[in-house]
Amino acid sequence: MSIVQNINQIRQKLLPGVKLVAVSKTKPESMIMEAYNAGQRIFGENRPQELKQKYENLPKDIEWHFIGHLQTNKIKYIAPFVSLIHGVDSFRLLQAINKEGEKNNRIIPCLLQFHIASEETKFGFVWEEVVEMLSSTEYKELKHISLAGVMGMATYTDNQEQVSREFQSLKEYFDRLKQQYFEGEQFKEISMGMSGDFKIAMLHGSTMVRIGSDIFGHRTYL
Ligand SMILES: *Cc1c(COP(=O)(O)O)cnc(C)c1O
Repeated sequence: MSIVQNINQIRQKLLPGVKLVAVSKTKPESMIMEAYNAGQRIFGENRPQELKQKYENLPKDIEWHFIGHLQTNKIKYIAPFVSLIHGVDSFRLLQAINKEGEKNNRIIPCLLQFHIASEETKFGFVWEEVVEMLSSTEYKELKHISLAGVMGMATYTDNQEQVSREFQSLKEYFDRLKQQYFEGEQFKEISMGMSGDFKIAMLHGSTMVRIGSDIFGHRTYL
């Protein structure tokens, strides 16, 4: 199967309104261009320097999303152009992103990553931490970030009921946050679902799926 065929197959499975983030981490620019030529415009990467390089070399109408764990000292590589940072998992990181947004005279859209999986290794906030952050005066002073929604990763397991439960918990966090802290249109994204579980994620209200291997084939390293 070719990249174009893979993308078309996934598009047919997307529920209305769900955006496809093509996760191109570790993949060469030639493969990104194949997807681009099939009409794909949103790409996700998880290494800041690699993302910067690809941004510089590839068409400027690509929307670049950062999807992985971001270290504060690397925000500078992507701050000038990144369209969305999916994995904000601490207030410290959000403050650091705000600082880079200020330097670049822009507002950087971010998603709050929640810890929904049973694995301990997955990053993310728990509910109380987010409430504490959003209620603080320090948060209210951040003028160069905007929170556009939430993101989460389910446990890597064949147990579909567990995956369902975890995605449902993210949907509930989103609904509560939207109701209690965010009015209006801007807080609207639920980024959940990868190659192995995006169909379940969409059933629980995902607005953005992040798909790598189903488009570009298996990666030899993370
Ligand atoms: C790599 C990655 C994906 C894509 O995973 P696939 O299983 O290849 O679809 C999605 N989200 C995040 C955060 C990732 O790091």
